[in-house]
Amino acid sequence: MALVIVLAVALWYLGRWRGVDTQARWTAIALLYLAVLAVNVALPPNHPLRAMTGGSAGEWLVLGGLAALVWGYKRVLGRVRTSVRPENRPAAAPAPGTAPPGTAGPAYAPGEVERYARHIVLREIGGPGQKRLKQAAVLVVGAGGLGSPALLYLAGAGIGTLGVIDDDAVDATNLQRQVIHADARIGMPKVFSAEQAIRALNPYVHVRPYHRRLTEDIARDLVGDYDLVLDGCDDAATRYVVNAACAAARVPLISGALSQWEGQITTFAPWDGTPCYRCLFPKPAAVGLAPSCAEGGVLGPLPGVVGAMMAVEAVKELVGIGQGLRGRLHVHDALWGEHRTMAIRPDPDCPVCGDAQAAGSASG
Ligand SMILES: [Zn+2]
Repeated sequence: MALVIVLAVALWYLGRWRGVDTQARWTAIALLYLAVLAVNVALPPNHPLRAMTGGSAGEWLVLGGLAALVWGYKRVLGRVRTSVRPENRPAAAPAPGTAPPGTAGPAYAPGEVERYARHIVLREIGGPGQKRLKQAAVLVVGAGGLGSPALLYLAGAGIGTLGVIDDDAVDATNLQRQVIHADARIGMPKVFSAEQAIRALNPYVHVRPYHRRLTEDIARDLVGDYDLVLDGCDDAATRYVVNAACAAARVPLISGALSQWEGQITTFAPWDGTPCYRCLFPKPAAVGLAPSCAEGGVLGPLPGVVGAMMAVEAVKELVGIGQGLRGRLHVHDALWGEHRTMAIRPDPDCPVCGDAQAAGSASG
């Protein structure tokens, strides 16, 4: 019996390590249980396989019965809980006429509008702005330090579709700052961990997780499916790929970056006469000049500051309000508690956006 239990535990953790979801892991354990039960029923009592797996079908039946009872109890409890959640109460469905101005139409699920009440009362956002957020699709590159707060706040803000691309898995060293993940999800691919957190926060958001690296061959097509891209990845090569794809597809790119105590954020939209990433950084930094978080360290809350600012800029871009960060680089110095914003200029010889700039100025 001990052998079977060890096998079940091994299955569970192997599945978790490989990023298999909980339901599939339970199914695997249920299949193992059925196989053991079959062995103990079908084989003669002195058969070695039967001896290895407990020897008695009765004990396994008792164990299975107990497990079924616990499962059934949890299921009933879950049903009772969801049936009393406010969004599932029929009375909570917005009556005709209660939807805020500009939110008419099929975009909202019953009970969804009330969670955006604090946005809708903002003069600058209101019903029409919230509807724009609901209809928007935003791609977040990297579900790490910057992607964590950005994704959570975008989900909370009611962005209709959130794409997230990352090839990494959750590691213990991430949890000091990557607050979208959880200790229980160490080993799980970050995009699936982020998906769980987003669904838990706002089940009305449509999440598209891409568990892979953003490479040149897919970048243009992928970016073209979105209204806005947020880049919070920690890899210089990917930043160039994202920048080129966004410039070509004319999708605004909100770019955040971190070093130990300092964060930077800007918005790239080079067809607007403002620079792209390549204008600012024509070549990747020399090895050793820009240490990664793993090499140089980073203050845990700092990505929270910059990632939340990326979400702020995203909302402004999508709704079309305030002054964004196109043509401006905002720097936050956490150690000295200082902010500064500087103008940044396009490079007319930029291989990525030089043509777009020329076309932009020609068309006025
Ligand atoms: Zn450029």
